[in-house]
Amino acid sequence: MSLNQAKRDEISSILQQTASTRRATVPTLEEILYQPISVLDHGFIRVIDYMGDDTAIVQAARVSYGKGTKQIQQDKGLINYLMRHRHTTPFEMCEIKYHIKLPIFVARQWIRHRTANVNEYSARYSILGKEYYIPRAEDLSVQSTTNRQGRGSAMSSEESAKVLDLLRKDAELVYEHYEDMLNQDQEGNILDPNRSGLTRELARMNLTLNYYTEWYWKIDLHNLLHFTSLRGDPHAQYEIRAYVNILLDTIKKWVPFAYDAFIEYRLEGAHISRTGRLILKRLLHGEKVTQLTSGLSQREWKEFITLFDLHYLENSAS
Ligand SMILES: Cc1cc2nc3c(=O)[nH]c(=O)nc-3n(C[C@H](O)[C@H](O)[C@H](O)COP(=O)(O)OP(=O)(O)OC[C@H]3O[C@@H](n4cnc5c(N)ncnc54)[C@H](O)[C@@H]3O)c2cc1C
Repeated sequence: MSLNQAKRDEISSILQQTASTRRATVPTLEEILYQPISVLDHGFIRVIDYMGDDTAIVQAARVSYGKGTKQIQQDKGLINYLMRHRHTTPFEMCEIKYHIKLPIFVARQWIRHRTANVNEYSARYSILGKEYYIPRAEDLSVQSTTNRQGRGSAMSSEESAKVLDLLRKDAELVYEHYEDMLNQDQEGNILDPNRSGLTRELARMNLTLNYYTEWYWKIDLHNLLHFTSLRGDPHAQYEIRAYVNILLDTIKKWVPFAYDAFIEYRLEGAHISRTGRLILKRLLHGEKVTQLTSGLSQREWKEFITLFDLHYLENSAS
């Protein structure tokens, strides 16, 4: 993972400092505060700051119910209730701020989530480092034939070696041209004193999407959970899911009751359609249901079968 020496020194110095506070703190999250957690080949996530904990969710909810402080088990029960019934505003009382380093193509997906506050590294102001993402050979796949947005089977080792070689060559070449256009290397040293060099805001435009960028990203817990449910889903791209896995770890450390409720009622729970619910009832009453008699399209029928592991229905005569 790439953090320059100045950044590493800054983190060491921050880690020496402590402050006393009357605000709620979470020891398990404090332990990892500021420290980079690796993602992909050069990326990382650092927790920079946070506000609130599980108690803040309960406190806010009890205002609306007009009740006082309760026991831990009741707090957990209340958080489960809120999650189950999508009473979401109490979860907005908790906020967290991350420092994230991620490839530009991942950032383009990430930034579609509009409910966060973002401040990105400026490639108009500074020179982008020579850091680009190269997937692991085992993560290279052919185009899926059933999902236009997805990956199919693994590539042959011969083909993946060629792809990796092309990715590296292209990234190296564009960076060489970037420095040439700037007339500066990544440390800012002038390459040719007789040339003036192109402005940074234009020179950056030839860099490939696998170059890394960085940002500070601040979001409340409700919207963070929404983000992780969309981008942690198996339909989301592997590279963004790699980041979501780390985010989920930090959420677990920060608000363990809310995390458990989220896994139980959202991430590993299921939402089924009205027709899906009726099919389940029919099956439970011993009725034979096929795709044709189900009222579902072929695609929905497949999803339904997969959701409830009803693969014996696949071969039932239509
Ligand atoms: C697997 C996957 C594939 C995708 N493929 C594509 C694609 O091919 N092309 C593409 O363009 N996008 C694609 N997206 C992006 C997707 O359409 C959403 O833009 C993205 O997931 C953000 O979701 P969101 O709006 O719910 O989140 P947020 O922006 O975080 O918003 C959270 C919620 O706030 C509300 N909200 C926020 N802003 C507004 C607003 N301005 N108006 C109304 N309500 C608002 C909505 O209720 C929203 O659900 C894909 C996303 C996923 C997960």
